[in-house]
Amino acid sequence: MMPAGLSHRRAIIVGAGQSGLAVAAALIGQGLRPQQDFVMIDAAPAGQRSWSSRWHSLTLLSDAAHSALPHHRIPGDPARHLRGDEIADYLDDVQRQLGVKPVWDVRAISVERRGTGPTLQLSTTVGDVQTRNVVCATGAAAHPRVPAWAASLQLPGAMMHSGDYRYPRQIPPGDVLIVGGGNSGVQIARDLLGSHTVTLSVRAHRGQLPLTAFPAEGSARAWLRRRRPEPVFGDSYQKLRRAGVRVTPAVTAADSVTVMLADSTRIAPRSVVLATGFEPADDWLPDPVRTTPARFPSTAMPGLFVAGIPRYSRPGADTLDKVSRDATIIARRIADRP
Ligand SMILES: Cc1cc2nc3c(=O)[nH]c(=O)nc-3n(C[C@H](O)[C@H](O)[C@H](O)COP(=O)(O)OP(=O)(O)OC[C@H]3O[C@@H](n4cnc5c(N)ncnc54)[C@H](O)[C@@H]3O)c2cc1C
Repeated sequence: MMPAGLSHRRAIIVGAGQSGLAVAAALIGQGLRPQQDFVMIDAAPAGQRSWSSRWHSLTLLSDAAHSALPHHRIPGDPARHLRGDEIADYLDDVQRQLGVKPVWDVRAISVERRGTGPTLQLSTTVGDVQTRNVVCATGAAAHPRVPAWAASLQLPGAMMHSGDYRYPRQIPPGDVLIVGGGNSGVQIARDLLGSHTVTLSVRAHRGQLPLTAFPAEGSARAWLRRRRPEPVFGDSYQKLRRAGVRVTPAVTAADSVTVMLADSTRIAPRSVVLATGFEPADDWLPDPVRTTPARFPSTAMPGLFVAGIPRYSRPGADTLDKVSRDATIIARRIADRP
């Protein structure tokens, strides 16, 4: 059943994460009222933001000063690095302060234009709604990226993507291979070190910088974007090695219970955690929007906007301190539309 009050709003924001909230804040700044002029839907169960489904010991790379939405300061030391559950609580507070009441458990399935007019039809799991503006804020790091070889593995222990990893007891005792030497792989290796025998498989050696050096802005941020592969912040491979982690080359293939590494050695891990990254949740957008190079803030469908996914916007659009830059432009455009 379609929840009352979703249809015929001036805008529907799809996604109640930091990107959706940044757009909500910017629309309020343009004089639009939550629940009256715009509504927000989210596919997750009530209040389950993506941060609450990351591993429990996750520490943000950005410091508190650069993890806040404008006008919503994070209390305490601006140089501290919040845990995932703390940033989830912070976003709950922002939502309350804005007076936004997301409609949870409603997934957007597709969006299309009705005729030649300004009306868009958003199809959701609870029915179709009509509106003039739809903002896709469904996340740049949403769907696990799983390497093809992973399908061949049948391990005696567990196999999961970092998106499903929460805490060490999920992994049966014994040895575990973490695939991916980026910031997620390094943090998960540290998390499992006290309870498991950990191997970290890395494709290319990455430089290391202390967490305090995570570039917040300006030329340092631009430098980081150009660096391939991106350095790891926090523990270096060397430090992890000293703590007992075995660091190996990349996995190139797998066969039942063994994986083949780039140096042609084979190992037979009991469990595997794939820290191999994510794809954006833009699969519900129409093909022309996904395939036409974006001209931010517009997309190939007038009235459809995308916030928080760099492919449709600019580098950094998916970070806590940069998403509001795009949200402000999108809100202004929505306010100006008839
Ligand atoms: C491990 C990790 C660590 C990170 N660390 C940092 C950091 O330190 N600093 C930083 O600035 N950034 C960091 N980021 C990047 C970014 O800040 C986060 O990914 C952040 O959660 C993005 O917020 P978002 O609102 O764009 O997306 P999300 O938080 O993913 O929110 C999207 C919402 O959309 C909903 N949704 C998805 N599909 C649909 C649909 N079809 N219909 C309805 N709802 C839908 C989801 O349920 C979700 O609630 C990190 C990312 C990851 C993965």
